[in-house]
Amino acid sequence: MIYGELIAVGHEILMGEIVDTNTAYLAQRLVDLGITPRYSCQVGDNIQHLVETFARAHARSDVVVSTGGLGPTSDDLTREAVAQVLGEEMKVDPSQLDWLEGVFRQRGIAMPKTNLKQATLIPSAAPIPNPTGTAPGWWAQHAGRHIVLLPGPPRELQLMWEQTVGPGLARAVGAGAVATRTIKTFGITEGGIDEMLAHLFGKENPYLGIYARPDGIHLRLIAHAPSRAEAMSLISPIESEIVTILGGAVWGYDGDSAGSRVATLLDAAKLTVAIGEGVTAGLISAGLAPHLRKGRSFLGGYVIGRASKGVPGPLDEFAEGFREEDAIRLASAVMASSSASVGLGVTVASKEADSAGTYHIGITGPRGSRVFRGRSMPSPEVTMQRGATQAMLELVSYLSWTRDPGATKSG
Ligand code: ATP
Ligand code: MG
Repeated sequence: MIYGELIAVGHEILMGEIVDTNTAYLAQRLVDLGITPRYSCQVGDNIQHLVETFARAHARSDVVVSTGGLGPTSDDLTREAVAQVLGEEMKVDPSQLDWLEGVFRQRGIAMPKTNLKQATLIPSAAPIPNPTGTAPGWWAQHAGRHIVLLPGPPRELQLMWEQTVGPGLARAVGAGAVATRTIKTFGITEGGIDEMLAHLFGKENPYLGIYARPDGIHLRLIAHAPSRAEAMSLISPIESEIVTILGGAVWGYDGDSAGSRVATLLDAAKLTVAIGEGVTAGLISAGLAPHLRKGRSFLGGYVIGRASKGVPGPLDEFAEGFREEDAIRLASAVMASSSASVGLGVTVASKEADSAGTYHIGITGPRGSRVFRGRSMPSPEVTMQRGATQAMLELVSYLSWTRDPGATKSG
């Protein structure tokens, strides 16, 4: 296993003034190369803190990648810190200086003296070209380990990664290939899944992670092997086992969204859908619309509330109903008014809670009618989001014919 560590340098990050997106980007790139990120940290522009951080990282990680602090000013101290950790002296490198002076000549300005340090190197470090900025990176190799310094601006470092660091690291560490698989579930709690899959957690290869997301609990398998095919073959049996254990709770994989799954299933069954949204204020339509072939499988979305006028038929009456049948009646009404083959309706489920409360999801179509109950959430926004996701995923389940057509499940 090859271990990676990420360091985000900058006072602004530490103080929460800018969000550290560089670490997320770089962590994913390391994983792509088969390097396992084990630590990441944020550190301010302070030489002592930087030295401590880099010394610790270099001592415990094969590949250390930092961003930020490569500018020309006196608070840009990342180079100084690494030189100190490796016990080496920074010297201006003539070819780096040539390049830097060229950049300023092109911009038509004289190079300030402070920029001179951007042309420095230490004996262990090679420069990493920066085609869009003035701060070249450093790639230091020491004791068989790598320390890569990149500038802070995301576009600069991403280009440097793609052109130089990524390909170079792939050659240098030869970590082989990595394969990942995300399995998306809905309807079982995180704790429940944790128990059901207890025997699969805690292993390194493939590694199994569990994440709570707005569209349910996601499971992620990551495997390392000399080739991608071998990595996939480590994943396949575990994936099958997980799907067998979790059964109908699995609704999608990898890049699938609730909306894309609904679209795929409607297309496969040559069905069309219409939607009446009494609680979710258009969120279901917004989730489905980008995936459904316009005017073919999505025949209408109606946002319904107390004051809504101009919707087909007297739909308000259903939206304000509190019984389970009202959700089905709404689904049937929109289905009929759009001549769709499937209708979906979401209505409030209790007088007190109004639209921020519990809700009913009604689905009607060729496999009969089903109704699901959804719980009240801490805020109307969360209830609406959750309700929309649940409605789409109940539709996925309805369309997959995986459950007893007569079954009713509570959300
Ligand atoms: P410069 O030569 O531009 O000063 P630098 O290497 O010194 O580059 P910083 O000064 O630390 O980098 O950061 C420059 C800018 O890059 C920040 O103001 C911020 O917009 C962005 N940036 C820095 N670090 C991060 C990070 N971890 N995530 C996202 N953006 C970042
Ligand atoms: Mg700077």
